[in-house]
Amino acid sequence: MASVFSPPDPSAFTIGPFLAHTHVAYFSMEMALRPEMHTYSGGLGVLAGDTARSCSDLELPVVFVTLISRKGYLRQEIDKAGWQIEHPDPWDPHKLAMPLRAKVAVQICEREVWVRPWLYVITSPIGGRTPVLLLDTDLDENHPDDRRITDHLYGGDDEYRLKQEIVLGICGLRVLSALGFNVRIYHLNEGHAALLALDLLRRYTRPIDHVALGESKYDVGRVREMCIFTTHTPVEAGHDRFSYDLVERLLPEYIDINQIRILAGDNHMNMTRLALQLSGYVNGVALRHAETTQRMFPGYRIRAITNGVHLPTWAHSAFSDIYNEHFPSWGHEPSVLVKADQLPSDLVWTAHMVAKGDLVDLVSRTCGVRMDPDKPIIGYARRMTSYKRPELLFSDLERLAQISERYPFQIVLAGKAHPHDEHGKGHIQGIHRHIDALRDKIPVAFLPDYDLDIARALVPGVDVWLNTPVSPLEASGTSGMKAALNGGLNLSVLDGWWVEAHIEGVTGWAIGEDGQHGANDATAEYLYAKLENVVLPLYYNDRAGWITMMKAAISKIASSFNTQRMMRRYAAEAYLC
Ligand SMILES: *Cc1c(COP(=O)(O)O)cnc(C)c1O
Repeated sequence: MASVFSPPDPSAFTIGPFLAHTHVAYFSMEMALRPEMHTYSGGLGVLAGDTARSCSDLELPVVFVTLISRKGYLRQEIDKAGWQIEHPDPWDPHKLAMPLRAKVAVQICEREVWVRPWLYVITSPIGGRTPVLLLDTDLDENHPDDRRITDHLYGGDDEYRLKQEIVLGICGLRVLSALGFNVRIYHLNEGHAALLALDLLRRYTRPIDHVALGESKYDVGRVREMCIFTTHTPVEAGHDRFSYDLVERLLPEYIDINQIRILAGDNHMNMTRLALQLSGYVNGVALRHAETTQRMFPGYRIRAITNGVHLPTWAHSAFSDIYNEHFPSWGHEPSVLVKADQLPSDLVWTAHMVAKGDLVDLVSRTCGVRMDPDKPIIGYARRMTSYKRPELLFSDLERLAQISERYPFQIVLAGKAHPHDEHGKGHIQGIHRHIDALRDKIPVAFLPDYDLDIARALVPGVDVWLNTPVSPLEASGTSGMKAALNGGLNLSVLDGWWVEAHIEGVTGWAIGEDGQHGANDATAEYLYAKLENVVLPLYYNDRAGWITMMKAAISKIASSFNTQRMMRRYAAEAYLC
């Protein structure tokens, strides 16, 4: 597949041109910038990368700040028993980014830790250039332990994680000042970046004789005017938090902890709470998610800006060729895709078969499983974790095999589990058992090491994109949007973004009914019934009807579930207010 990631020229990267007209800084622990840069793990990072690519298309005045993650997240290997083995996944910044001369320090425990930014520049074929700063502690002046702080994305224990968040939030803020940026708005992508708001708070400490009795010496109002917080976590347990003992040990005499307890919670420093308290604009990533968050944190105003995907990144070249020809302005103004329902059906089907052929080749090369492009492929790929129920499709293997006798189909799966998520790894092993059990009945393949490259081949190549989260735990989800852009039909529990995009039998199908918190068995039954009675018969008996749905999915979903629309909303409603 042709690359949409323009070849970088690090020697031409200079920060000067960005300084005067950049007013917004977007902080994210992870960012999927390009496949060779292993600075992301999954959905959150892909969203940040898509966000940055849209900023570049739209020439928005934003600088991005993230960690360099020299050893990456993890490279996934699956052993003979179906168990995930994790390897480091290093990458070489020298080939892709440029070290800048600025350096800043922060005191962590007893030592000064120095941080240097590297510059990566996103170049949009239709717009401008967007700077990304990658923060790095691997410097000669640092203690050997501190040089490792920016190695492993989401690696290590609480202490390692808090050190990373100190580097991201506190050093990120200081790097921007050291470079000469004049930032007015800080956007926190998830709670990991909340320490930047804390460092701003320190900046705006009021002289003690200006503080009324009982009032905070910190000018919280001033910080709130500058901070925007996007939360992504719909469960309390998912929020990042640290013990105050740890905070005081790593940041001695940094800030008045008693004042922070009032903001971030009495028992733990809850990063979501901290970010909520210090941000004047807070949003969830879909309507349903904003409602859930509002219930979890009454007393705050939680708005909704539904996520999107960067269309040129996620369109298979067979589809971008069609869009370039029929809707030349789609990259800048994706709403023109609303007319995709008028495209000639054979054009759409032919493009789909090209994308599907690429997937069939990949599966055959990687897993040695032969799939038939004339039979439907069901795809499922995302982080392997219990709430997403990756094994729900395999609840009743006999039933699944019976359905496939009437209507043959094939399944492709992928996804990594976090190294500490034993249940997630158990699901991967479970899937490999099901693959064995279904051998000779249903072709099923698990593509190891799910990443940008695999996603860009897998998602556009399937006929049906499956999603089975426990509602309301899927904050948004984005991979279904990538599928729809390529004519893939979503079959999903009504949760996250799908609540907004679903029109039954038009853009895809629901599994069960809205608001149903069905037990696994009940949800599996809905899934089997829909596959057997609706989805597969349509594929085999009414191909014209199927293609009509493909075109409706492109027209109704891709035209609005994209990061162009999402960033225009952030720019108009969050950054300018
Ligand atoms: C899009 C994407 C995700 C996000 O998937 P969800 O649908 O949000 O679960 C995760 N990983 C990769 C590699 C992706 O491209």
